[in-house]
Amino acid sequence: MGGGAGINQLFQQAFYGSGDLDDGAIEGLLVGARRLAVAAYFAHELERGGGDFVASGGLVRDPQNFNAAAHAFILGRNGMEIDRRTFLIGATAAAQDRPIPIIDAHIHLFDPTRPQGVPWPPKDNAILYKPALPERYRKIASPQGIVGAIEAECSTWLEDNQWVLDVAAKDSIIVGTVGNLEPGKPEFRAQLERFHKNPLFRGIRYGDSLWDRHLGAEIQKPQFIAGLKALAEAGLVLDTVGADASLIGEVARVTDKVPGLRVVIDHLPQMHPLPDLRELGNRPQVYVKVSEVLLRLENGSVPANVDFYRDTLEQLWSVFGEDRLLYGSDWPNSDLWAPFDVELNVVRPFFHGKGRVAEEKFFWKNSVAAYRWVKRESGQPPV
Ligand SMILES: [Zn+2]
Repeated sequence: MGGGAGINQLFQQAFYGSGDLDDGAIEGLLVGARRLAVAAYFAHELERGGGDFVASGGLVRDPQNFNAAAHAFILGRNGMEIDRRTFLIGATAAAQDRPIPIIDAHIHLFDPTRPQGVPWPPKDNAILYKPALPERYRKIASPQGIVGAIEAECSTWLEDNQWVLDVAAKDSIIVGTVGNLEPGKPEFRAQLERFHKNPLFRGIRYGDSLWDRHLGAEIQKPQFIAGLKALAEAGLVLDTVGADASLIGEVARVTDKVPGLRVVIDHLPQMHPLPDLRELGNRPQVYVKVSEVLLRLENGSVPANVDFYRDTLEQLWSVFGEDRLLYGSDWPNSDLWAPFDVELNVVRPFFHGKGRVAEEKFFWKNSVAAYRWVKRESGQPPV
């Protein structure tokens, strides 16, 4: 293996990506730091999964593989040789059964109690008009397995880009923010440069139905397109959202004009029924947030079972596949539909049914590809 990799790095590789473990990493774990790494690895896995396995009798689905993992752990703990095959079977078994860390690619932060107030939400919204800060989010999200979140703008005030960055600086559950700047404005580049200095600033949001702005009209203007090119050159993302099917063609035209720009469409499931998405299907730089999935029926109820939403999810899957769909809760906006865990428990079984690789992509790997967010806590997967 490449001799420079430290034990932590190898451990991270083994822990988070056993599917991607290359020969070098395996050799490193087996040879260089065998005793420590293997013992630590399986000790950790058994603590997390093994105890539950004993209690539930089912977390590790294949008892034979569990036995292999346990065997490898005992050998490693006692400082004994572990052959490559034992290690691989054990590592694979442990990896397949560990919980998948979740990055929530869409939450909002605001504080109506601050002196200057907020442009959104409105005062008369009893559900939303209270502080939405990382501390409250963490309490709700952590028990669901969420280890990080990307904030999406909810204010047109320039200094609120800074306010979010300042709030995020104090809580490492926030791994990025998508701000609010206008690419068509003369001051755009200077503002972009200013906020992009902070690595947590991962892009901007601009779209129909937001702040009375109109993407379709703006993309006719050379200055707007030049702004988007600057955004792409900075490696940042354009988030967009709209209630009208015309958004789909507009996003296609954005990517025609600025092919290097990654675009994330927010809340697409709210377009109901879904428009024809095939035009976007063959554009690999276009991602879709599977957020705001829940629908309110005419009788006021909000169905909470995956089967009700399966056709919509399957349509998105058939167009965008396993590499371009991301999880986003839209907290605290989601409270307008249902408690936080309801939507998660709609999308989780759907993506679980697509297999472990797809589930990991949906819950965190695709958000790395789209946003290149910043890992800030040890419980967050590597970027
Ligand atoms: Zn939102």
